[in-house]
Amino acid sequence: MTSNERILSPFTLPNGVELKNRLLMAPMTTCTGYFDGTVTSELVEYYRARSGAIGTIIVECCFVDDLGLAFPGAIGIDSDEKIAGLAKIAAAIKEKGSKAILQIYHGGRMVEPKLIGGHTPIAPSAIAAPREGAATPVAMSAAEVENMIAKFGEAVRRAIHAGFDGVEIHGANTYLIQQFFSPNSNQRDDEWGGSRENRARFPLAVLDIAHKMARQYADDAFIIGYRFSPEELEVPGIRFDDTMFLLEKLAARGLDYLHFSVGAALRSSINDTTDPTPLIEKYCALRSETLAQIPVMGVGGIVNAADAEEGLDHGYDLMAVGRACIAYPDWASRIANGETLELFMDSTQREALNIPEPLWRFSLVEAMIRDMSMGAAKFKPGVFAETVQDDSTTLVFNVSLETDCIADITLAEGPLDDVEFTSSFEEIRSRIIDANSPHVDAISGATSQSEAVKKAVSKAMVKSSKARIAEEGGDISAPKNYDVVVIGSGGAGLAAAIQAHDEGASVLIVEKMPTIGGNTIKASAGMNAAETRFQRVKGIQDSKALFYAETLKGGGEKNDPALLRRFVEHAPEAIEWLARRGIMLNDITTTGGMSIDRTHRPRDGSAVGGYLISGLLRNVTKRNIDVMLDTSVEEILFDAGEVRGVRLLTEEQETLSVDAKSVIVATGGFSANSAMVVKYRPDLDGFVTTNHKGATGSGISLLERLGAATVDMGEIQIHPTVEQNTSYLISESIRGGGAILVNQQGNRFFNEMSTRDKVSAAIIALPEHYAYIVFDEHVRAKNKAADEYIARGFVTSASSPRELADKLGMDYHAFLATLERYNGFVEKQHDDDFGRTTALRAPINEGPFHAIQIAPGVHHTMGGVTINTDTQVLNSEQQVIPGAFAAGEVVGGLHGGNRIGGNAVADIIVFGSLAGHQAALRAKR
Ligand code: ADP
Repeated sequence: MTSNERILSPFTLPNGVELKNRLLMAPMTTCTGYFDGTVTSELVEYYRARSGAIGTIIVECCFVDDLGLAFPGAIGIDSDEKIAGLAKIAAAIKEKGSKAILQIYHGGRMVEPKLIGGHTPIAPSAIAAPREGAATPVAMSAAEVENMIAKFGEAVRRAIHAGFDGVEIHGANTYLIQQFFSPNSNQRDDEWGGSRENRARFPLAVLDIAHKMARQYADDAFIIGYRFSPEELEVPGIRFDDTMFLLEKLAARGLDYLHFSVGAALRSSINDTTDPTPLIEKYCALRSETLAQIPVMGVGGIVNAADAEEGLDHGYDLMAVGRACIAYPDWASRIANGETLELFMDSTQREALNIPEPLWRFSLVEAMIRDMSMGAAKFKPGVFAETVQDDSTTLVFNVSLETDCIADITLAEGPLDDVEFTSSFEEIRSRIIDANSPHVDAISGATSQSEAVKKAVSKAMVKSSKARIAEEGGDISAPKNYDVVVIGSGGAGLAAAIQAHDEGASVLIVEKMPTIGGNTIKASAGMNAAETRFQRVKGIQDSKALFYAETLKGGGEKNDPALLRRFVEHAPEAIEWLARRGIMLNDITTTGGMSIDRTHRPRDGSAVGGYLISGLLRNVTKRNIDVMLDTSVEEILFDAGEVRGVRLLTEEQETLSVDAKSVIVATGGFSANSAMVVKYRPDLDGFVTTNHKGATGSGISLLERLGAATVDMGEIQIHPTVEQNTSYLISESIRGGGAILVNQQGNRFFNEMSTRDKVSAAIIALPEHYAYIVFDEHVRAKNKAADEYIARGFVTSASSPRELADKLGMDYHAFLATLERYNGFVEKQHDDDFGRTTALRAPINEGPFHAIQIAPGVHHTMGGVTINTDTQVLNSEQQVIPGAFAAGEVVGGLHGGNRIGGNAVADIIVFGSLAGHQAALRAKR
């Protein structure tokens, strides 16, 4: 039998069901569910496109309990309401002739509190997962264990009702089921823990209930599979003989297949690294006759027929295919046709390949996209030992570079046996190698460590490319040459760089801080735009004219009308500009000063800044745009009446010149330069700022030296709701979601949805100079940011308003009366006291009740350099300074006397992309 015949021949499972071939699509998280875990139509189409020739599709894991989701965008099977959506997936798969199996799981201690509304995750024992920042879970009571088993049972029932051909119990990837079996995470002393026998009880009970549900609601054709991770690194931890013990027990109860969860199908032991035998071979040698009756499935690295065949040769019965099925929806047909495939995707093909946008952003998938566009040879190959510092330790990394890629990164000195450290290092290492760039998102919970690794790689790259230039006889000190230099890597800078690159310009981004993102990364509310596609989808009637009028009113009529008009006109296109680059702002809320929902944000309601920067960065990396971090622009070079380039100062205090035809200044505002703030506004002496350290206004002085004029320098916005101990901004979206402000006496004192300047002034006028932002569970549930505030410890919560008032040292009679009166206003949609007209969303009456103490902080500098509507910098005679462009907060005039929440993000994308266009145009002249 040839390999193709073997893998394509039908296969019969122990329950008698025939799979039309031995190939399955592996369960892969797509992160494409709605915020509540329901199925999106994109997801249905993704699975539909991949069905047909492949025998079986195992649909990504579904959480069985709404406190059990382990990653954002997960889909759930935790309630009957979810059945309808899941049924669409099952139908789409089966319609095309494949079998549909659904994977079910609970994340246990791998769940992050911020994904479950700030709740503490649950697990067999109160032991945090060995990774930085992992929350310590609450140990489940015996009753909760029983209850959890019932939940798995309910999930099986729902999968049956949704029309799936089977379920796969997810006993792997360190999720709850594995946590019960692991001596590392399960240190209970009741019947569910202790001995190996006891630790096996939970997985077995889940299998039992799955059988029970199948018997009750399905017929014998219902498939039950089990996925397991064969070993753990931790000490104590699961070893291979423990796994064999468990699998024998599972097999004795009856199963239709077992699924090895390993990265590579022929992987050997991670515990005994001296033994190169693939685990599957060990498994085949050790298994009993009963276990040998259960088909076993392999996964990991299967791209071509030969890979699948090799798996079968080593003892697997079935082969699951992951990334190849993403890259080739018709993978099995291609294999059947004898094609040989390579794992990559054309970056323009997302829609054609039916890949949901969140999945496209996944690092594994992205690595496939990158493979297409690997830059030209740049490095002198070699291993570079780089010493860097994280928060607490000195670390040495060996960075191996090939001529055109980052080949490897190893930790040479540092906490080599710290499991937490090494596991997050592994993650950032593979992100960097996959992207072939150090400019990737940091690992959450391990930011300082990630930045250190990124830095080591950047340093090695600089050294190695210098070495290469020298080797080729080049002059290292000769000025580099670019069409466009962008100063600053906030939203405006990144948007400008991407646009200029896309119009054919060679681009360099220079950033003085060690990380990318500027102050933009802190933006919370969203991006304002009127008459957008996403507003239309939601039935929101809006007009550019109204957006213009409200921004003008909010800015005290001081806004530059020409800039404002350009801004309002281009905002919907800027939303599309982002969408075309995979950055979807399709959820909509409102901010103070706007009468209509026009603040666009990510669909899960999360803060816009991190999402935006991560998306823009992905685009920068994909395009191989050069970025220099820790490097500041000291001077914009100007000669013979035009801009000629920039003079840089690197971290090593080296001065470099770069020639450029256009320079875009996107250096942000000056809120973090208190001397400059106080120079223009003595009344703001002593105020905290919400801004990052780099917001020093240096771009303004750089341009002033070329004769640029400034405008509105005294217009400095203070944000009304800043947590004072950390200077952390409490997003306007909380008030926009329905929160109120009360003073220490428990009374409302102002229209919370008024503009930032007015609300701030009202807080400062209170005798205590602070206030509380108060909201209920209803507001929290709809606002991801609230969960973050809870996780950061800013929030005082209580089960009743009275308890909350007590905790805040507030007169509860007054507080209760305030809530009652406000709730009455919500009911009649009229605020008799302070004239609030927007975000009177729902009565504040659903416990728990929450409060955050806040006061104003310096937030945005509306003033800055003057530009025309083509982002060209103007001098005091309103004449263009040739070759100088500016965008973002460094520019003055657009916002007038007060910036409306959501308008800064719109500003940076509208004018950032425009500056990129104009700068590229000039460079091409
Ligand atoms: P915007 O919102 O306008 O894009 P951001 O504050 O987000 O502004 O980003 C501006 C970025 O510019 C920051 O990361 C800041 O560190 C950087 N920056 C400021 N001055 C300089 C300079 N002289 N050289 C290089 N980078 C600078």
